[in-house]
Amino acid sequence: MVTHLEDSGRAVGLRGQLGQLCYSSGLLHSLQRVRSWWRRDLRVLAYHRVLPLPDPASYEFDLGLISTPPEQFREQMLLLKQRFHPMRLSDVAAAIDEGRELPADAVVVTFDDGYDDNYHVVFPILRELGVPATFFVSTGHIDSGRPYAYDWLVHMVLLSPATRLSLPELGLDVALPADRNGRRAIAVDVLYRMKELGALDQAAMIERLEHEWDMPSDVAPPDCRPMTWDQLREMHAAGLEIGSHGVHHWMLSKLPQAELEAEIRQSKEALERELGVAPLLMSYPVGSGRAFDQRVIDVTRDAGYALACSYISGTNPQPASNRYALYRLAVERNMGKGWFDAMLTMPNLMSYPTPEHLNGQGESPACSH
Ligand SMILES: [Zn+2]
Repeated sequence: MVTHLEDSGRAVGLRGQLGQLCYSSGLLHSLQRVRSWWRRDLRVLAYHRVLPLPDPASYEFDLGLISTPPEQFREQMLLLKQRFHPMRLSDVAAAIDEGRELPADAVVVTFDDGYDDNYHVVFPILRELGVPATFFVSTGHIDSGRPYAYDWLVHMVLLSPATRLSLPELGLDVALPADRNGRRAIAVDVLYRMKELGALDQAAMIERLEHEWDMPSDVAPPDCRPMTWDQLREMHAAGLEIGSHGVHHWMLSKLPQAELEAEIRQSKEALERELGVAPLLMSYPVGSGRAFDQRVIDVTRDAGYALACSYISGTNPQPASNRYALYRLAVERNMGKGWFDAMLTMPNLMSYPTPEHLNGQGESPACSH
């Protein structure tokens, strides 16, 4: 329905085929060894949710947040253990502080938002395989148990009894079709476009729809539930790392200064209060080039964080130089085994295509969270 989605769809198909081809050739392991002789860059994988892939026609939430199904996630972690060097993100920060070089093929696993499948599905797999990971959580949602606003917006558009969607903030007034796939396409477009608005205006728009449609987000259905502090404490005690993803999951660059500082400070205080240690790690909500800027970086650094992740696609040849805006490699649900392996082996060629690759603007529709 819009150009960025069509372009992205074509590029996804091509890369998927190319990745599978490289994988089938059996050459990836050799290629990786050659590459690691001349290129030492930190790879940071970015996940959201790990769930069995649902039927899009009946699933009531944002499909774009499902990074991979559980059995595939386990395979991915096994690959990391066998051929790469999985690291804790705080150990990366320590190496940077001490001027130490990272090991060849260093890779970090991260999760954004804090959905409860991270506890029920991801945690047992990581514990079994001994792979470290960092979970960036929006502390206000852990406190309240309420669903994440962007996901709730998708839910409302999919299920509303209304026949029109009117969002004057976006100059949008469209009929809502009866079929769920048609509505899903509209929701994805709204998510993409609304990120031009100020963060508080985005929140107000979603809240207005909740009232208009009488669909308040004061319940968290089983498919859209944040983790609890008890679950996070258990994961933290088992050696996993918990970092900040803000309080409300607002786009930090789109906040006035006082609210920006409050998001960064209060999320840090909540993590310290609940886990007993001050967090060192941050991931900017949404994370694209329009979700953080130098002002956000300055506040993050001054608040005492040691590292921060963006959602811009790429690897980090000199992580000391971009320690407050680390590039990441998004893992997406349509990425088969071959593509995942090829992406880790040749990240610059095979990472998930975003509009920043395609036309130099915006972030991927698939990584808009
Ligand atoms: Zn997020």
